[in-house]
Amino acid sequence: MKLCAKKILARCLCIFFILNFLLLISCDRIESSHIEEALGTVCLVSLFEQGKKSVYKNIFSRIQEIEKLMSVNILSSDISRINAAAGKTPINVHEDLFYVIEKAKYFAQLSEGAFDPTVGPLVSLWGIGKNSHIPSQEEIENLLPLINWRNIELDASAYTVFLKLEGMALDLGAIAKGYAADEAVRIAKQAGVTRGIIDLGGNVFVFGEKKDKTLWKVGIQNPNERRGDAIGFLQTTEKTIVTSGIYERYFEENGKSYHHIFDPFQGYPAQNGLLSVTVITDNSMNADALSTAVFVLGYKAGSALIKTLPGTDAVFIFEDKSIKTTAGVNFTIMDDSFYFAEE
Ligand code: FAD
Ligand code: MG
Repeated sequence: MKLCAKKILARCLCIFFILNFLLLISCDRIESSHIEEALGTVCLVSLFEQGKKSVYKNIFSRIQEIEKLMSVNILSSDISRINAAAGKTPINVHEDLFYVIEKAKYFAQLSEGAFDPTVGPLVSLWGIGKNSHIPSQEEIENLLPLINWRNIELDASAYTVFLKLEGMALDLGAIAKGYAADEAVRIAKQAGVTRGIIDLGGNVFVFGEKKDKTLWKVGIQNPNERRGDAIGFLQTTEKTIVTSGIYERYFEENGKSYHHIFDPFQGYPAQNGLLSVTVITDNSMNADALSTAVFVLGYKAGSALIKTLPGTDAVFIFEDKSIKTTAGVNFTIMDDSFYFAEE
């Protein structure tokens, strides 16, 4: 009788484990893509090999982790704590955020301040997308002394960040999405995914080789058309493709358009005839920072900077409907109203 009970228990346990195993397999089924809202934008991840549910879950958890550290819209984030302590005290931060701020400083120096992560006060003043309005010249001039990446003090031994002047504020809107895209690719590759597309609101990363061995085709947003309409497409091997443009976040007043990419020296949206700049390279954080930097620098200085960076290319789209590319770009125009112009 005792033996029989033991047998029944053993069978029950066996069935329990088999059911659990089957449940685990069905929970971790393969999916070709997953979409979620994060970082204030739409994030689409498509994994074409080994795209298990668990891998998508890990990628989106990581994106949320990054948002919680780096979003100025979250009061408890490390970045908000740094900003609140500006001019008062250094703040100990997570090493991921420290790393991104270090890189942001590097790109600020490289672009001679065209990219500047201390644009926070300007972003708040113009309020684009929130309480958009044209500030007075006086308001802008009062803020300009606060916009200076040289006043970010980093201590790598203590992982502390200090903004030297009260009122300063970091904004990583032009670099953190790229970091998140790099992290998404890292996680996917570590999980054995051999090919895929990460698209975090225009921060695109195509990785691996397509099954049929042809090049990846990546569309570039048509600045004059609604979201999703491509002006043309790039053909590329594994690369990240990041665009900064004036068409996503802007407002109009008195027939004039004001967008979200600021000239840190003037305090106004950068205006130099460009509609968008797309940077193509191997690291999405670098591409993100560079696309913003090059947009502010304008075509002449921007293309000169891109040419100094190995493995890096760019597509420039202008208001006059001309398009210029650097030498390594394979780009096809689909909207006939645009045309290629010589350098
Ligand atoms: P990019 O050219 O890559 O970046 C432009 C953005 O960078 C501007 O919006 C501004 O924030 C900043 N910037 C402007 N000029 C300069 C300059 N000269 N140098 C350096 N930086 C500059 N959006 C929401 O609406 N709600 C959210 O809750 C929200 N949370 C976010 C959280 C995180 C962690 C990140 C990274 C972004 C978040 N966003 C959110 C989006 C963000 O506000 C920007 O609009 C977005 O990152 C712009 O990206 P882009 O690729 O269009 O342009
Ligand atoms: Mg950028």
